[in-house]
Amino acid sequence: MQKANTRFATLTRMKDAYDVQHLRHLAGEIITNVRELSRAGLTPATSSNFSLRLDERHAAITVSGRDKGKLTEADIMVVDFHGNPVGSEHCPSAETLLHTHLYHRFPEIGCVLHTHSQVQTIASRLYASDGHIRLEGYELLKAFAGNTTHEAAIDVPVFANTQDMVQLAAQVDESLDRQTMWGYLIDGHGLYAWGRNMGEARRHLEAFEFLLSCELELRRLQR
Ligand SMILES: [Zn+2]
Repeated sequence: MQKANTRFATLTRMKDAYDVQHLRHLAGEIITNVRELSRAGLTPATSSNFSLRLDERHAAITVSGRDKGKLTEADIMVVDFHGNPVGSEHCPSAETLLHTHLYHRFPEIGCVLHTHSQVQTIASRLYASDGHIRLEGYELLKAFAGNTTHEAAIDVPVFANTQDMVQLAAQVDESLDRQTMWGYLIDGHGLYAWGRNMGEARRHLEAFEFLLSCELELRRLQR
């Protein structure tokens, strides 16, 4: 059995301590899953970022600017729920706050995935002026946790792109006050999707990707 002082990161402030073994386990999970998402074309040109809840105060998240198809353990860092790095000199992505505010608000959320696929980017451009994309009548709506029928409709918000993450997180919070949401788009940018664990977050991400591509194709055919 590991001694407590080797298993837990030795940090100056006790509230910053986290379980290093658990972090390594989560890093492995992120690396394996993100490699697959990268191969599927969801993370072009080092974009996108991915995180898992580490404990009730911390998340493990990808370091900014790394090739997401070639991640190693060194490319995963710890942040607190205010988006500050913990025990690392690496720079977290500017968008870290968009992950951590979800962990802070919903104790049940365990994973946040942010991608930049072509489908997501084009859909965000086309529907930005409406402020949302309505997905309705699709069997695959049942992929979203809590939906039990295709007779449902969900409105995926499309927020204006900005470098002000505090403002964007506040807009996301306002939307979450009004509806259950498993994701949103940012104009000209990409998608955020989340779930209680990696499996559920990936299911939501894949459902969004598929349904958005259906909407784009229908639009093209209906011209
Ligand atoms: Zn991004």
